[in-house]
Amino acid sequence: MQLQLAFDRPTPGEELEELRRLLQATEAGLAGKGRGRLPALAIDLRLRNNRSTMARVAYKDGSPPTWQFSLARSLFDLAGSDCLPLCQSLLLKARGLKPAREMEQAGRDLRDRWLDRRIVEAPSPAEDDPHLAEFLREVAEHCQAPAPARGCPGILWYEGLSRRMLGRYLVDAHRIEIHGALQHKGVPSAALRTLVHHEYLHACLGFRQQGNRRVYHHGEFRRLERAWPDYEISRQFFDEHWPKLYRRWNKCRTQGRPTGGK
Ligand SMILES: [Zn+2]
Repeated sequence: MQLQLAFDRPTPGEELEELRRLLQATEAGLAGKGRGRLPALAIDLRLRNNRSTMARVAYKDGSPPTWQFSLARSLFDLAGSDCLPLCQSLLLKARGLKPAREMEQAGRDLRDRWLDRRIVEAPSPAEDDPHLAEFLREVAEHCQAPAPARGCPGILWYEGLSRRMLGRYLVDAHRIEIHGALQHKGVPSAALRTLVHHEYLHACLGFRQQGNRRVYHHGEFRRLERAWPDYEISRQFFDEHWPKLYRRWNKCRTQGRPTGGK
């Protein structure tokens, strides 16, 4: 492997072609293996301006058929040809084969790097909303639970959550993700703070083992959750308004319009 100095890094086009070539070599080794026992197909690799889909591969039934890879441009900007293990594991899965553990781990690490990058990149909430990180600081200050041993978690808006999840706390990444649909002027600060409080409590309290189950919303969790001043009113707000907020956001998203309006 040649050492590359900053000034002679390959251009993005060359690096993308290099990644494609390496993937093509992997594919050659997979000919006849896995579901359908496909021959080696041509690799078609494209960058897309995705915000919530990091990478995916699809079988394209043309003549000849290809594997069509779509990578988020921001991922490729971040990692370049380091995207290889992630793409390789996608390719194996597409063929119904199991990727090696190291390959999967490299893919997960890359996903974390990509998501962490968005903490900085995440747009600030709609006007006259304070920034999420400030919400979290306020919440941490007033929360009655003992602070997390690992310090305050990261927080970001995330567009990739399902409609059933307003937010979540990721233990490994020590990060709170709040549904992008809540980045809307119609969401009261009190409701957003209450949601951040719920996720922050997960960071503080962890889980209780009950038999072979891990219970996250245990008694102590529920007690502290209810002790939050705006808990009831916020619950009512989400019960009443979430389905509509989600529908509107999803519609704007699929039509590519901004979502921050009234
Ligand atoms: Zn929860």
